[in-house]
Amino acid sequence: MTITYDPKHPKYLDEKDVRDELTRVYDLCHGCRLCFKFCTSFPTLFDFIDQHDDQDAGKLTVAQQDQVIDECFQCKLCYINCPYIPGQSEWELDFPRLMLRADAMRHANDQVSLRDRVTTNVMGRTDLLGKVATKTAPVMNKMMGAKPGSFVRKAIEVTTGVSGERVLPPFAKQRFTTWFKRRPKLRIGKRQGRVAVFPTCLVEYQAPGIGHDLVKVYERNGVECTLADTTQCCGAPFLHSGDIESFTKIAEKNVAALANTVRKGNDIVVPQPTCGYVLKKDYLDYVGGPDAQLVAEHTFDASEYLIKLHKAEGTSLDTEFNGDIPETITYHTPCHLRAQNIGLKSRDLMKLTGAKIKLVQQCSGIDGMWGLRAENAELSIPIGRKLGDEIIKAGGDVVTGDCHLANGAINEQTGQISLHPLQVVARAYGIPEE
Ligand code: SF4
Ligand code: SF4
Ligand code: SF4
Repeated sequence: MTITYDPKHPKYLDEKDVRDELTRVYDLCHGCRLCFKFCTSFPTLFDFIDQHDDQDAGKLTVAQQDQVIDECFQCKLCYINCPYIPGQSEWELDFPRLMLRADAMRHANDQVSLRDRVTTNVMGRTDLLGKVATKTAPVMNKMMGAKPGSFVRKAIEVTTGVSGERVLPPFAKQRFTTWFKRRPKLRIGKRQGRVAVFPTCLVEYQAPGIGHDLVKVYERNGVECTLADTTQCCGAPFLHSGDIESFTKIAEKNVAALANTVRKGNDIVVPQPTCGYVLKKDYLDYVGGPDAQLVAEHTFDASEYLIKLHKAEGTSLDTEFNGDIPETITYHTPCHLRAQNIGLKSRDLMKLTGAKIKLVQQCSGIDGMWGLRAENAELSIPIGRKLGDEIIKAGGDVVTGDCHLANGAINEQTGQISLHPLQVVARAYGIPEE
């Protein structure tokens, strides 16, 4: 049994080695039990082990081991809270990365159903889907926006594996990068920084308004914006489905292009938490080398960059807010931002407007695209419902969250529109919505 999280390690995809490592880690977690509240993976695991009088994790069947893996949606919260992580403990336990290894092993050893592969290919080809869907937005949105549970949605579920019960985010008529290239150029007075926007598929095809406001807020604060040398998908849907071959191909191309962007003197800003995490952390693991390191060091979450500017010597943000400022803002903190270990920068940014922030830390159960897969809907929807309840309980005048997919879950569960924090800041400056 090898303890490794390195995808290039010769034993990384070895089935016996991975299953033995699962037994070791499952046993340690069963003894610890700290993470029972984050997801169903842990309670499922503890139940399986408790079925045996001697509580031997080695007695779990392959199907039972796999169920624990299937229920993990890569929120990373167990890693953040674990006292036994590599570098801190001889146990070297990184539960989410072990789940990624197990997924990759099953994928490499043909233990993934054809239906799962089809769903991954539909969900993973975000650029192809986005390009077609933005060109045919009225028709596409009619289909995708059909009532959850309706005949149309059931037909989509049967053919693609995308849950017919979830509310899906609609596509925009104009892509973010098209808007960016056509917009009138602004002369920046005192330049405080230079960034390249890596828009992410969600902002590029579905929520370009977040990108518009990002650029306008940045430019108002003297930050020159350009587009990153690549605006292609980061590859997360493949990574989170165990298809590390497809992921690594995308990652290698992106690392080369993004390193080029950085060498031109830009930092990279990412307005979506999952994609930011992939650029900062996963590219290091799966591509590695000096270029991946350079990209990781120069990649910032969109709010993280602004707060860095505000706190740095010699630069600061404009704190004159003459627009609409809500009295209270409910802010949902996405798991993949918490996993970046950067603090709550969007909260800090919105606080500058003078609004009172009410935090909601409950997971949305979407995490990347796990919650949109038909087979996960039954587990994911109740998690989203809990989030909805907490949003309603917090009762802020405006609801916000950085993750567009989690915002979709909030909308699905509460009927309220959840905005990206930069959209609230833009309105507070008096910048109108496009
Ligand atoms: S991941 Fe770490 S903290 Fe969580 S149950 Fe396992 S050992 Fe405990
Ligand atoms: S990463 Fe999240 S979903 Fe996966 S096991 Fe850890 S807490 Fe559960
Ligand atoms: S993780 Fe980000 S860049 Fe990757 S597919 Fe999703 S939105 Fe696109």
